[in-house]
Amino acid sequence: MPLIIAAIAILLIGFLIFKMNPKKEKKWISPSDSFPLKWKVILNDKVMFYRALSEDEQKRFEYKIHEFLLNCTISGVRTEISDLDRILVAASAIIPIFSFDNWKYYNLEEVLIYPTMFNDKFETDGKDRKIMGMVGNSYLEGHMVLSKQSLIHGFENETDKKNTAIHEFVHLIDKKDGAIDGIPEILMNKQYAIPWMDFMNKKMDEIYEGESDINPYGGTNQAEFFSVASEYFFERPKLLKKKHPELYNHLEILFRQNMSTKKLTK
Ligand SMILES: [Zn+2]
Repeated sequence: MPLIIAAIAILLIGFLIFKMNPKKEKKWISPSDSFPLKWKVILNDKVMFYRALSEDEQKRFEYKIHEFLLNCTISGVRTEISDLDRILVAASAIIPIFSFDNWKYYNLEEVLIYPTMFNDKFETDGKDRKIMGMVGNSYLEGHMVLSKQSLIHGFENETDKKNTAIHEFVHLIDKKDGAIDGIPEILMNKQYAIPWMDFMNKKMDEIYEGESDINPYGGTNQAEFFSVASEYFFERPKLLKKKHPELYNHLEILFRQNMSTKKLTK
């Protein structure tokens, strides 16, 4: 009898702990197999960021890619998914958080890949298909939607300061504190949030006044500004440093990566 009481007590305590901590993050599985050679070939061929890493860093990058793919499902909707698609999604996830050793995308379960751009009803034919990617909320919580065309294009054209998948993963990083608002509290000290917001507003004003080479979509709101500026930072860091040194410095501190010294070459 005392054993039953003890067992009930343990269950009750466990339940209470779960109730008090409902957002308890599920454990991620760690890779146990070695990194597949064919994935390494894709990284070498398609991902400039990976090629610019030292051998040790490449190993760390591979591990994180492997871990990501073990823990997040990537599904095709009206399209087949290849290893290339999987690797490019995972690379987009890892590039922005590469300096954060213990980062895990607990807020992501599945990435849905559509063949082309889509509209707000997720239709891939007809007019008004302008959406290249999005981070889901409400019934799509825990999901990201990407157009395969835009995913591939982000890694093919390395000079246009655009990478849709990185853009969407930066929204997820921003969302980790609960709100997609351009203020990734998880990456910054609290006292840094207000100056960062003021600075973003100043840079958005430059976009409105037509005095900026930053993608005008960044003028939509602070969340889009942060994601658009991050795409620029990871795609054309040297150009960003030259044209927007202060913005470059902010992003270098936030992402803890000195991108401008990396040899990003085809
Ligand atoms: Zn966006």
